[in-house]
Amino acid sequence: TDIKELLLSRIRDVADYPEPGVMFKDITPLLADPAAFTALTDTLAELAVEHGATKIVGLEARGFILGAPVAVRAGVGFVPVRKAGKLPGATLSQAYDLEYGSAEIEVHAEDLTAADRVMVVDDVLATGGTAEASLRLIRRAGAQVAGVSVLMELGFLGGRARLAPALDGAPLKALLEV
Ligand code: IMP
Repeated sequence: TDIKELLLSRIRDVADYPEPGVMFKDITPLLADPAAFTALTDTLAELAVEHGATKIVGLEARGFILGAPVAVRAGVGFVPVRKAGKLPGATLSQAYDLEYGSAEIEVHAEDLTAADRVMVVDDVLATGGTAEASLRLIRRAGAQVAGVSVLMELGFLGGRARLAPALDGAPLKALLEV
């Protein structure tokens, strides 16, 4: 569609970043283009409304840039999921495995309740580890999962399969796939 072509045309491939052999998908040209950024925000907000989301969870850091305007557009709250040690209040923490080593993300416990249906928003789904950990946080907070929505899915990394058990039937929507 026209929107997909517009979005794709505003994503820049950066070779060998952040390390040799990696082709990094850079969304900053898209953010700098108001037509593309608006189209992306509107599309993700429609998905959130369609799936009955009451909160948008954004994953640090580009998930904040995308998730915040999506939440405002959808008329729901925004909740940041941050790297460990950044949130000042009482948190739930979730560790997850990386290719080498592990990482930990956190959410303010009081920001998600049993009344919430949560849509996770991020720019890129790669291995799915970050999104999977965020779904565990959401479920541990007692909230429901409305789905995961990303701008782009890197299909060859198998994130969709890794995410499936944690999604437990909730939709994973990628506007673009490579
Ligand atoms: P995952 O946990 O392996 O799925 O990695 C996903 C996280 O890394 C997301 O928060 C993405 O923002 C980031 N990420 C991984 N690859 C890329 C990329 O090519 N471009 C932008 N972000 C990426």
